[in-house]
Amino acid sequence: MDLGSRLAGKHILITGASSGLGAHFATLCARHGARVTVGARRKEKLDDLVAELTYAGAASARAVSLDVTDEASVKACFDALDAPLDTLVNNAGIALSSMAIDTPLADFDAVMTTNVRGVFAMAQEAGRRWRDAEQPGNIVNVASILGQRVAGGVTPYAISKAAVKQATHALALEWARFGIRVNALAPGYIETEINAEFFATPPGEAMIKRIPMRRLGKPEDLDAAFLLLATDAAPWMTGTYLPVDGGHLCSGL
Ligand code: NAD
Repeated sequence: MDLGSRLAGKHILITGASSGLGAHFATLCARHGARVTVGARRKEKLDDLVAELTYAGAASARAVSLDVTDEASVKACFDALDAPLDTLVNNAGIALSSMAIDTPLADFDAVMTTNVRGVFAMAQEAGRRWRDAEQPGNIVNVASILGQRVAGGVTPYAISKAAVKQATHALALEWARFGIRVNALAPGYIETEINAEFFATPPGEAMIKRIPMRRLGKPEDLDAAFLLLATDAAPWMTGTYLPVDGGHLCSGL
């Protein structure tokens, strides 16, 4: 089955697309001829990305300013869409690292507000627009294997990603009646802006050794799973949490 061809002409909205995995997913969708709308706070970065997406083959590429922590910005983003949406990719996320005992509560709030409330707010706005639609869309939440197992120094992040996993199951249950599917992609450690510094440290290098496949993931290692969830290739698949992690979740104890 050619999953990529199912994206042609589909309208995909990707949050937090100014860097890392979001920019990668946007480029993947563009290469397959999707209409891609990218949202993030750093709009000047998105303008460059839009030019790249157009060059890559997007049916159309647009940037919208979006702060997922801001209710008005979330609504404005959906109002700014120029065509019915097929897929929302909830990719925006932050990971502030510190030991739990020293973590300022303001950092805890920031992680929760972005990673959990942001995902919920975006999904809710999409769900409201799709509820009575003839062709409702689907949602891909970018979770993390840290929502299922734990590592030191990222407790609020791990809590937030566990919440994203559970939000995926709960929303899938409530919205199956509307034909809205909600799934989660749970990457293992992929080298991007969010973690590059950490993997250059001795604990980071030690962690790579504990990945059964003995390497970090590359963004393209996620492509097949992303396409499965973001397209209509698996129309009976909802509430699924799909880890792609080089075997990290089944590393030996
Ligand atoms: P990244 O820092 O490059 O990307 C995160 C993006 O989210 C950035 O573009 C940032 O501007 C955006 N963002 C943050 N707060 C926002 C807000 N309030 N409104 C809108 N956009 C906002 O990191 P990444 O690794 O590409 O992460 C993307 C997603 O993948 C995150 O949800 C992250 O938790 C998840 N993830 C990453 C890895 C990994 O190893 N890189 C592993 C598992 C999960």
